[in-house]
Amino acid sequence: MSQESGVPTFRDALEGLWAEYRPEDLATPEAFRRDPKRVWDWYAGRREKIDSVTPNPGHYALAAMADHATRFALITQNVDGLHQKAGSRGVIELHGNIRRVRCFDCGRPAETWQDDGRHVPICAACGGFLRPDVVWFGELLPPGEMRAAREAVLDCQVFFSIGTSGLVHPAASLAYEASRHQAVVVEVNLEQTPLSSAADYILRGRSGEVLPELVKAVWGE
Ligand code: ZN
Repeated sequence: MSQESGVPTFRDALEGLWAEYRPEDLATPEAFRRDPKRVWDWYAGRREKIDSVTPNPGHYALAAMADHATRFALITQNVDGLHQKAGSRGVIELHGNIRRVRCFDCGRPAETWQDDGRHVPICAACGGFLRPDVVWFGELLPPGEMRAAREAVLDCQVFFSIGTSGLVHPAASLAYEASRHQAVVVEVNLEQTPLSSAADYILRGRSGEVLPELVKAVWGE
């Protein structure tokens, strides 16, 4: 969804100074151990970029859906916090949040940190390096968030799969789980995905256009 707000995907952001790197050079625990400063700077740049973008009509439409629905859960793989900026609450963030920072060694979250541009900020508790609180390649999804996502899925009547490639597991399996539990599965995507053949309805288009139309059609606003 955030691509439509101008947040470049991870791969698209690998340009200019970063063009020589691959995702695994920047988004794995091994990469951080090898060169924490490089990884920290990459995420500092991403954070700066994300600070300058705003939610799009799709983000706002989901916040509106939550207001209308009796029960509603928003599960995201995005790490930019744009859903919260648009007013969504209780967002289940499967891949973490780039605005949060925690210690690489002891895991403790850091509320504030000093970035002098020369050193990786360190943990006040143990002196370890601070890292972004996002899920890197090869890391497990946060168990609490995954549990909350599964509970929401088992309990839902309608499941929307929005703008996701449907390739990254276990997140991609949630739509199939919903379908097995008799939920109506609706795919919102510009392109065909592996989920398309299993979806009950397909809305081809940009989420920033489709979702506001949907809210208007269902609730008339
Ligand atoms: Zn620490």
